[in-house]
Amino acid sequence: TSAQIGVTGLAVMGRNLARNFARNGYAVAVHNRTASRTRALLEEFGDEGEFIGAETAAEFVAALERPRRLVIMVKAGDPTDAVIEEFAPLLEDGDVIIDGGNAHFADTRRRERELRERGIHFVGTGISGGEEGALHGPSIMPGGSAESYASLGPLLEKISAKAADGAPCVTHVGPDGAGHFVKMVHNGIEYADMQLIAEAYQLLRDVAGYSPAQIAEVFRTWNTGRLDSYLIEITAEVLSHVDAATGKPFVDVVADQAEQKGTGRWTVQLALELGVPVSGIAEAVFARSLSGHTALREASRGLAGPTAQPLSGAEADAFADQVEQALYASKIVSYTQGFHEIAAGSAEYDWNIDLGAVAAIWRGGCIIRAAFLDRIRAAYDARPDLPSLLADETFATEIAEAQHDWRAVLGAAISQGVPTPGFAAALAYYDSLRADRLPAALTQGQRDYFGAHTYRRTDREGSFHTLWSEDRSEVQA
Ligand code: NDP
Repeated sequence: TSAQIGVTGLAVMGRNLARNFARNGYAVAVHNRTASRTRALLEEFGDEGEFIGAETAAEFVAALERPRRLVIMVKAGDPTDAVIEEFAPLLEDGDVIIDGGNAHFADTRRRERELRERGIHFVGTGISGGEEGALHGPSIMPGGSAESYASLGPLLEKISAKAADGAPCVTHVGPDGAGHFVKMVHNGIEYADMQLIAEAYQLLRDVAGYSPAQIAEVFRTWNTGRLDSYLIEITAEVLSHVDAATGKPFVDVVADQAEQKGTGRWTVQLALELGVPVSGIAEAVFARSLSGHTALREASRGLAGPTAQPLSGAEADAFADQVEQALYASKIVSYTQGFHEIAAGSAEYDWNIDLGAVAAIWRGGCIIRAAFLDRIRAAYDARPDLPSLLADETFATEIAEAQHDWRAVLGAAISQGVPTPGFAAALAYYDSLRADRLPAALTQGQRDYFGAHTYRRTDREGSFHTLWSEDRSEVQA
């Protein structure tokens, strides 16, 4: 027999992805650099479906039906190139290599180009959902050629998560690096979502005066409404967990230094290059890095500032309701910024990405999965050329209703000294976009003063310069 798909790299992700294919009725060839992992998979899970174990690259390739579909799930970076170099010489015209690792999209573009010249399709694929998702259905974001998707799509649709309406959480995102680009922005949005939730928690703790257990209940309630999402759900779980060793709330015994593996940073780096303001995502990345600066924090601990005076009773509960409004409004802004970055990447690299389809495949399987994404899908389906999510009438109306509470929450946070960089950045973005006039006019004046960088006028076409060090008359530049 021959296998319809192969997976090489059988650590947590690859092993579970291979099992997912097998459980869905596909014959799966499995391979790993260290053969003991392959044998362990066959021993433990061999009865879940049809596996063909391969000890060598040649055996692995020989086990695959043509055109071959070969999934690489190894450590991102140099190992991916090493594995490609090991297999590519054994492949034939029309075969498909799928990289499911967390590659940088620029690497994916390079690999796709190099392999295309050798007659091999390369499909850089974002996969979200972690270990559990890989096994039970992830959200899958494949790039690469349309031809490769024709051969690969049906298998991915089978193993992917399904949204509430039954639609598979996979779509052909676009050519070459489009899939990994979208996965990168997914992770950036994930950082922002997590930061906003963390700020909401801190406000409920310091300003509303709630305990972690009470806050867990608040999140459980929010999870039945418009904030319904995987991240809100697990937040309630983490907050209600009690540390067995000390009997204290788990959240109080964990070191408050957040780590990161780099995809949030990539999102911000790319946004800087594309000129897209993703201030909320950037603040989320910076908040994690600030938390890790222990010496800096130690040296700053004595700095002056107010101590939060917790509310109580009905006042505390009313404040909690306002925090829900602030969180929701800030979340809309994060997604607005993330989708703007996808639109900008799509324009820059000619990917022609369907933003509504991206929102649709994030409805299930991935870390940011949420009821909310169905509404983003609907907004883009109704108006594919929507310039910004904030221009959607439904979202604009919701923010209009939330903005009073959003401002009140930020007012309380600022006067009580509770840091809320994510909420604040989101509101500043909103107020900047809706402003009639921005102080950018003054910035232009300064640039012209010190560097003769010129400016445009509101009342006439052309570029102008003021002779600042002479008689301050204006000349056409
Ligand atoms: P790891 O990232 O820990 O990678 C381990 C695997 O890579 C092993 O199979 C290992 O083989 C193989 N490997 C490493 N170097 C080489 C090499 N030079 N040549 C051949 N094989 C090599 O595994 P994960 O399962 O955690 O992740 C796999 C990929 O999926 C990564 O790119 C990761 O970023 C991505 N990913 C991970 C998610 C997660 O939640 N963990 C979620 C989404 C994507 P050996 O056994 O021989 O050492």
